[in-house]
Amino acid sequence: MSEEIIWLFNIGFFAAGGFVFLLGLAIGSFLNVCIWRLPREESIIRPGSHCPACSSPLGIRDLVPLLSWLFLRGKCRFCAAKISPRYPAVELLTGGLFFVTYLHYGPSPAMIAAMVFSAFMVAITFIDLDHQIILDGMLALLAASGLVLQLATGAVGFWSMWLGALVGGGLLLAMAIISQGGMGGGDVKFAAALGFWLGWPGILLGLFIGFVAGGLVSLLLLVSGLRGRKDFIPFGPFIALGAWIALLYGKQILAWYFSFLV
Ligand SMILES: [Zn+2]
Repeated sequence: MSEEIIWLFNIGFFAAGGFVFLLGLAIGSFLNVCIWRLPREESIIRPGSHCPACSSPLGIRDLVPLLSWLFLRGKCRFCAAKISPRYPAVELLTGGLFFVTYLHYGPSPAMIAAMVFSAFMVAITFIDLDHQIILDGMLALLAASGLVLQLATGAVGFWSMWLGALVGGGLLLAMAIISQGGMGGGDVKFAAALGFWLGWPGILLGLFIGFVAGGLVSLLLLVSGLRGRKDFIPFGPFIALGAWIALLYGKQILAWYFSFLV
């Protein structure tokens, strides 16, 4: 290839990546609305966005992802109430996850499926952190979208999905019974829904990564004194993290692992 064509290709590649990142910021902004409203059983459409402190309706210049928060220096334009840095953080996180899926898959149906999955993981993580619940409606949507998208992209076979759901849900159900309250019913249903995205044996890898990450973070929180032995640490965010890693890198990780066995 001539140098000019390579240059054009590179510019196109990064321009598309930039677009995907901006799309992620916008979706992250929508996820902030979902994270706040869905657990409170409010509509995500009406009424329009308003300041939770003074109820002033927010205009377009208050709602530009990331930039509005920066320009308003984290304060409401009308009442100067502090706006949590969590809002731009969720937007940035979603933009980052979208950008990584683009780098990993390139423009493809698998990339779109991974973006949908990323959005679910972000919403489930922050609702679980805020309310210690994982919404049934969201889990039903997660399972259904996994069934449709992973079959369409050919990433996971039909029976592999059902086996993944059965093993994931069964494993966490057993742990919920043994731990007597350490793990909730939401986590059990979450693991079953993830089975449709990860299939067998991907679900085991996702849960394993989640357990390791959850164990490490719990240990750090205990040792540092930030959390006591009796404090509840939601497990959903760790399952979400493990599942996301398993969705993108599961095949490589399993191939690497099995390369030691032969
Ligand atoms: Zn306000």
